[in-house]
Amino acid sequence: MDLYSGHINKLIDELANLPGIGAKSAQRLAFHLINMPKEKVNRLAKTIMDAKENVRYCSECFTLTDKEMCPICSNDRRDHSTIMVVENSRDLAAYEKTGKYEGVYHVLHGAISPMLGIGPGDIKLKELIQRLEGDVDEVIIATNSSLEGETTAMYIGKLIKPTGIRVTRIASGVPVGGDLEYIDEVTLLRALEGRTEL
Ligand code: ZN
Repeated sequence: MDLYSGHINKLIDELANLPGIGAKSAQRLAFHLINMPKEKVNRLAKTIMDAKENVRYCSECFTLTDKEMCPICSNDRRDHSTIMVVENSRDLAAYEKTGKYEGVYHVLHGAISPMLGIGPGDIKLKELIQRLEGDVDEVIIATNSSLEGETTAMYIGKLIKPTGIRVTRIASGVPVGGDLEYIDEVTLLRALEGRTEL
């Protein structure tokens, strides 16, 4: 027997599909949304649609942005010869928050995972290699220290090494399996400063 109306059940199901939202949170959010004034719900729905329609990948680093090129890539004061490779835009934001990194980024949108069937062709790796044809001095690999992150780092290292471009890996101050976005800025900076040659 359904405890709630079909519409509420559907809403709870959709919310529960979001990352980090369990069944209980989904229920709480659903009831909160139902009790919200209609114009607030409309605004929220419109904001989601607007974001979905207007956000795209930066043509250079592939982070999510509203413009053709993101504010970091279009900033002349950034060091465009140093590229930090991260798994997603949230990791980019984590490093950006430290305010100490002056280079640019490359967002892979994932990591190589043979277990999940994600190969090198499924992430923005080809795009990274293309960027290396430009003026690049160093590629800093800042993928997570999970199995997938390490596999990806090794793969990229092997790919870039023959080009003669310096390839480094951030230090393992970042706990194994730790998502970069949850790590404090001091640890992130220490990991960056302690990076080693690959
Ligand atoms: Zn960019």
